[in-house]
Amino acid sequence: MKVLGLIGGGQLGMMITEAAQKMQDHISKVVVLDPTPNCPAAKVGAEQIVADFKDEKAILELAERCDIVTYEIESGNSEILKKAESKAMINPSPETLRIIQDKFLQKSFLLQNNLPVPEFVEINSLDDLKEKIKKFGYPTLLKARRDAYDGRGNYKIKSQDDLETAYNTFAGKPMMLEKFVDFKMEVSVIAARNTKGQIVTYPLVENIHENNILKITIAPARVSESVSKQAEKIAHDTMAVLHGAGVFGIEMFVTQDDKIIINEIAPRVHNSGHHTLQSSQTSQFEQHLRAILGLELGSTKLIHPTIMYNILGTDEFSGRYKIADFTAENLYLKMYGKEESKPQRKLGHFNLVDSNDTLGINGLLELLESIKKQIKFIKV
Ligand code: AMP
Repeated sequence: MKVLGLIGGGQLGMMITEAAQKMQDHISKVVVLDPTPNCPAAKVGAEQIVADFKDEKAILELAERCDIVTYEIESGNSEILKKAESKAMINPSPETLRIIQDKFLQKSFLLQNNLPVPEFVEINSLDDLKEKIKKFGYPTLLKARRDAYDGRGNYKIKSQDDLETAYNTFAGKPMMLEKFVDFKMEVSVIAARNTKGQIVTYPLVENIHENNILKITIAPARVSESVSKQAEKIAHDTMAVLHGAGVFGIEMFVTQDDKIIINEIAPRVHNSGHHTLQSSQTSQFEQHLRAILGLELGSTKLIHPTIMYNILGTDEFSGRYKIADFTAENLYLKMYGKEESKPQRKLGHFNLVDSNDTLGINGLLELLESIKKQIKFIKV
């Protein structure tokens, strides 16, 4: 029996906690470290240490109290986590995290291992940017190398006139320049590797973003079998070189000529894997725990086509809210227990499952349109 430590207790931590509670033969309890008192993971029963994600003392205390420590955020301090390795097993390993959390190191690592990434280069000054962009042309993306998610660390440079503004947006931070990929679809593979080296991948899914935030995941992706096989192989090969144990979300682009290019790896359970809660025998959350506990990994087969829809806070108001009741057949709603809404905040999601295999993806998308109209926020 192990005590599980969790850095980050938002919705991902909450769903990991719920999965842990169903694995009572292996996990006795969950302790979460999160700065928000009564965070979503604590609300469903995890013990909580209230502290910042980078608080060294608190991380060491967490490792002291637990047998295995994992995380739902990629912004942890890998150096502190390395120190904590003497007290508890940490997975994915701090070294894997160190590589992944710096987009430039991550892409360099993938390139060295012959995995497909967009062309990229490090940027060290405005003059450096002015020089290097000549090779890339326009548009090109300037990216902050670290602590950037949901597109917040990207600046699309459309012409020479944008160069200074783009550079000043991230001034003082390490940056990189990346070739703009004219993709026809954004997709991802949820993959897992256990501590013994067993690797599994879930079927390729399609992701639709709004304002750089994931809105809809379609499982399976509407691509040919050869594209999904290509993507799943790339995900498998990525897991083989990364060495970390756990579930990883591998985001990719499908190019106009059906090639796969890796955009980014998340060393954690991923929003595009939430459909597995209903669509698969093993949810990504259970799979993550199986991986870090060194258990045999579970089936990743997609049982029924499913779409996942993220419920995000609206621009209309911020503050305490509730959602008006809404329902549909084969709709599984999961709210994250966040009391206050803010624009674009991830408040919950639902999965819509084609349980009788009669609707197909188009039927599910039509159903989604009618359900969306029922989602109403009520200020409380
Ligand atoms: P990121 O935070 O780097 O994953 O990027 C957020 C979003 O920006 C992605 O989901 C893509 O829509 C877009 N994006 C990132 N990199 C590229 C690229 N090299 N070419 C085109 N679009 C990109």
